[in-house]
Amino acid sequence: MKFSCRVSAAATLAALALFFPTSMVGAERAREPIEIHVDMSRSPQRIMHAQLEMPVEPGPLTLLYPKYMPGEHGPTGPIAELVGLVIQGNGKPIAWDRDSRDVFTFYIDVPVGVTKLDIKLDYLPPRSGGMFGNGPATSDRVAVMSWHTLLLYPAGVSIHDLIYRSSLTLPAGWRYATALRTKKSRRDRVHFEDVSLAELIDSPVATGAHYRQIDLTGSAATAHRLHLSADSEAALEIRPETEAAFRKLVAEGIILFDSYHYRSYDFLLTLSDHIDAFGLEHHESSDNRLAERALIDDAPLNLNAGLLPHEFVHSWNAKTRRPAGLTREDYQEPYEADLLWVYEGLTSYLGDVLTSRSGLWQPDYAHDSLALIAAVLSNRPGREWRPLVDTTRAAYTLYGVASEWKSWRRGVDFYDEGVLIWLEVDTQIRALSGNTRSIDDFCAAFFGGTSGQPELKSYTYEELTQALNDVAAYDWRKFFDDRIYSVAPKAPLGGIYGAGWKLVYTEEPNLVQADYDETGEELDLRFSLGLTLGTKDGRLRDVLPGSPAAASELTPGSKLVAVNGRRWSSELLHRAIHEAAKDGRPIRLLVENSEFFREVTLDYTGGERYPHLERIAERADLLTSILAPRTP
Ligand SMILES: [Zn+2]
Repeated sequence: MKFSCRVSAAATLAALALFFPTSMVGAERAREPIEIHVDMSRSPQRIMHAQLEMPVEPGPLTLLYPKYMPGEHGPTGPIAELVGLVIQGNGKPIAWDRDSRDVFTFYIDVPVGVTKLDIKLDYLPPRSGGMFGNGPATSDRVAVMSWHTLLLYPAGVSIHDLIYRSSLTLPAGWRYATALRTKKSRRDRVHFEDVSLAELIDSPVATGAHYRQIDLTGSAATAHRLHLSADSEAALEIRPETEAAFRKLVAEGIILFDSYHYRSYDFLLTLSDHIDAFGLEHHESSDNRLAERALIDDAPLNLNAGLLPHEFVHSWNAKTRRPAGLTREDYQEPYEADLLWVYEGLTSYLGDVLTSRSGLWQPDYAHDSLALIAAVLSNRPGREWRPLVDTTRAAYTLYGVASEWKSWRRGVDFYDEGVLIWLEVDTQIRALSGNTRSIDDFCAAFFGGTSGQPELKSYTYEELTQALNDVAAYDWRKFFDDRIYSVAPKAPLGGIYGAGWKLVYTEEPNLVQADYDETGEELDLRFSLGLTLGTKDGRLRDVLPGSPAAASELTPGSKLVAVNGRRWSSELLHRAIHEAAKDGRPIRLLVENSEFFREVTLDYTGGERYPHLERIAERADLLTSILAPRTP
């Protein structure tokens, strides 16, 4: 998963999966398909309706609403938005009872003579709030339907053995895209081929009034498609060079892993300002959501260029090979998140590599992205108290965490720090092998194999380090223990150095930070004043402990009102930093904190400071070869 919305995560409850009453779903019943029909015709009103027909036997039955969603790394099933639940048998209502300790669990008693349950329920997609798959996913013109939001499943049968027969009603005239195979479609109603519950939930449906399909297959041996659903026709008009880069992404991905493990691959990309931007990986597709003009305007295109590469990499590193602790037989049991530094961290590194190799990023942009990651993690005081692995174990509490004091708290650092650590693995393999091997060889060996069919092979930490050892003999256990499992106050910059570069700070704006500023998201002055603030509202997002801003007791969440006696603007603040560097006088700020105004002087004369990479002349430049395309 790659994300950009950050709101509160739901609290977790103790796992009950091992303690469910014995399932009353007989083995032969489990083999009969559960039918589900989802009616999306009212999705512009933010109501989706589902009807299920579930074969059952008389007696007590436990029904479950999916709780821990794959890829979202937490108990994010939107149970609060499940309404209108009515269960019937032979046309008569059957009472249900929710578990008093777990809101995702329902109990019923199936009467004698009833062989099939008729279940009706509604899902209310939120307008705001929620997180990831349960965040805003509809507008008047587009909607993403995630099956897990609209179904119940019987306890006691593996999600890989339960079979669902699904169909869908679309809003009139809308088009749809999904990795599910269409059996038949007529006007606005679509019937899909039977699949397991696991595959159904792994296959969301993107729909929209404005839709375009782009073939990305190129020279690949199987079909790759990009499906755009948008709030306008204009949003679909992507540039030819962007289209060509997405096509190259497919070719570069397959060559990196020397394989593909899907029958075909569908990138679903929904473009709307009324949905939350993020991406969720699936085996044969990915659910990507961005703002309406994300593929049209330069700054958002650059900032989001890594989304599709990241989710594409997950088809191998997440769906085909997955840490054993993250594999599952149901959606109710918590997971072991320790190896998210591989699942997400390695994906972040390879995703960034493919973003460059595909041409979605030019080298100077890739360098500035890497420099920014290195600088942020080098100015992360939180690394003095918690090791990186702790951020994996606490992941679901950190996704939605506020930006205030984030550098002291740490966030889901295993994504960005994964970029640095796996770059170091790459350069270390190259150093150990006299530059004859690289992480590409590891990818081909660990994620490769026969192409064509989806498969899942789990792995352990030991198997991972053994596989690295097979590529280049080294004490990888100690390498990772030092960087991930121990408190590591210094950011791991060995990969940048190993690749022949170093982190420097100059007055020249960093391209990524400049794009964040231009899109109105954030003015990033972390490496000069020690703060970030909203470009539009002047609200202080974060203050770095130990920085001039922290020394002046500026508070995250407070609002900048004036700079040197004049109403604040981004341009004025930049000018004040320049002037202070010239005349040595402190910068005067007026800030509002919880209705109280305060004048603050910032003793900072160091000028603008932005992170960049600089070549080390006496070392070989491996970074350029790492980022260079392997296909012609
Ligand atoms: Zn991810």
